[in-house]
Amino acid sequence: MRILVFNAGSSSLKFGVFDIPRGAGLAQMRQCFKGSFDRFGAGGCEYRAGLDMPKPARAPHTSLEAATLAVPDILAEAGIEDIEAVAHRIAHGGAEFTGATELTAPVLDHIRALTPLAPLHNPANLQAVDVARKVWPDLPQWGVFDTSFHLTNPARATTYAVPKAWRDAGLRRFGFHGTSHKYVAFRAAEELGRDLRDMRVISLHLGNGASACAVAHGQSIDSSMGMTPLEGLVMGTRSGDVDPGLFGYLSRQMGLGIQEIEDALYRDSGLLGLTGSADMRDVEDRAAKGDSDAQLAINIYAYRARKYIGAYAAAMGGLDALIFTGGIGENSPSMRRRICDGLEFMGLKLDHDRNMAVDLVGQAAPQIQAYGTRVNVLVTETAEQAMIAREVAMAMSAPRAEALRIPVAVSARHVHLSRDAVDALFGPGYDLTPDKPLRQKGHWAARERVNLHGPKGTISNVAILGPLRDRTQIEISRTDGFALGLDAPVRHSGVLQGTPTVRLQGPAGQYDSDGLIIAARHIHMNSKDAQQMGLTDGDSVSISLATTGRGLTFGDVLIRVSDNAFTEMHIDTDEANAAGISGAVEGELSGEAILRAT
Ligand code: ADP
Repeated sequence: MRILVFNAGSSSLKFGVFDIPRGAGLAQMRQCFKGSFDRFGAGGCEYRAGLDMPKPARAPHTSLEAATLAVPDILAEAGIEDIEAVAHRIAHGGAEFTGATELTAPVLDHIRALTPLAPLHNPANLQAVDVARKVWPDLPQWGVFDTSFHLTNPARATTYAVPKAWRDAGLRRFGFHGTSHKYVAFRAAEELGRDLRDMRVISLHLGNGASACAVAHGQSIDSSMGMTPLEGLVMGTRSGDVDPGLFGYLSRQMGLGIQEIEDALYRDSGLLGLTGSADMRDVEDRAAKGDSDAQLAINIYAYRARKYIGAYAAAMGGLDALIFTGGIGENSPSMRRRICDGLEFMGLKLDHDRNMAVDLVGQAAPQIQAYGTRVNVLVTETAEQAMIAREVAMAMSAPRAEALRIPVAVSARHVHLSRDAVDALFGPGYDLTPDKPLRQKGHWAARERVNLHGPKGTISNVAILGPLRDRTQIEISRTDGFALGLDAPVRHSGVLQGTPTVRLQGPAGQYDSDGLIIAARHIHMNSKDAQQMGLTDGDSVSISLATTGRGLTFGDVLIRVSDNAFTEMHIDTDEANAAGISGAVEGELSGEAILRAT
């Protein structure tokens, strides 16, 4: 499949054409064209084209629109034909767009309505869509959203502590650069030969815009940009974190209006506000020549980034890898060094020579940590366009016409016990009594029960599911967590690192065990069904209960394939209550929202 990707910024247009063989991973994708326009002015703009992006030439276009209109001729001249879809990077997708979405008229209306949340970015993205629709009226147009990856952030990360009426009006944190953070996190895991689902990663995207993202077990759990792309790190022209009290102060003391203050925070702040230049290369050159403003700006920039690393390591309960990307992250060894300085206490230290010798040719992702240190530090180019092309290709090639139906089962709270736990709770060598068989072959509910004790309360009569496991795992709902007074993370079965400890009580004694989780929703899938549905282990899908209960759709449902599985989706009691379902229910697997295991 051949896809043209547009990445229209507020002052630049980048585009690329990608060939994606069906079912291919990132590594098998081929980029067959690359171009960019920027520095628009009365006399035209700078233009680069070709895979090796040679030195910029001049082009006559004075606006983004004119440059976009020139793209068809450029592609024709390069002999690029048979494009099957146009994919657009869209900055703000709100809470609705969880993945690649076809840009139909209602979808575009929705994106337009989100413009106040990304005033610099969404209008530029929409303009590119308008032009592309004029130029290629017969091609499908798709959007991939910077916000989607962060929609897994928990409420504690997305909620501002402000009046309810404001929150009801939609005020919340979203996060951006999602496609970039997702790509580099997967790329780092691939480079380290590890499963991202077993890792805690921080990604620092340091370009003109800059953000940090905490990726715990494959999911974004927090990100430094907020409701708008203004919060967080110091950027080229944006301030990042400030005290919101400055609005009142500046208005009263300097007579500034809201628009003026906001414009200044977006366009006249950050490196530009601190030094007069938004370009880190200039700032570093000036600092090296002794300019004290530039030196302070570099210190502020690095300090802010370092604070976020500390915060996110704390949020995740540890850190396995730190990734640098974006123009500054990729090209400035001195900034990487400053950001990492002083983090030895958490097992993070750079190797000077490796840091200086970073070479990113051919999608390399070199490691630059000092030998023997615990946290891997990697540098890699972000490949947002490739990721966008891939997500669109996957969405387009997913089965769409006939929705697939999956039975949904509600898992009430239960425990899986280890041999040690059974010995402690029921007596040494005790054998649990299988009572009811479960639908997954070989699995059963035991006649015996246990009680759970937490700092706030007790839950009695909790089911035990067999057979025994190597590690005790306790699966509860968020509501149960409040009853116990314990904050259980949402995890996939078996991913128990850093989970809280709870006390189990049986007739013969007590057993304190970690492994307390809220089970992430998942689908057990028989290999034959998976093959028929075109799914593989690790894919994520959306399951819609549109015609049942309260009409909910569950996104990000993990597919777990095994030969003997009975195909069935498992959700917990809170999810079932939210969906308003009880008894036997089937959900529809929507082919448009399949996210492939990378
Ligand atoms: P965008 O967010 O617009 O895609 P980039 O990712 O291209 O931006 O990053 C632009 C930033 O990267 C600029 O501040 C630029 O100065 C900085 N940069 C590029 N090369 C270097 C370098 N060699 N050293 C320091 N900073 C650099």
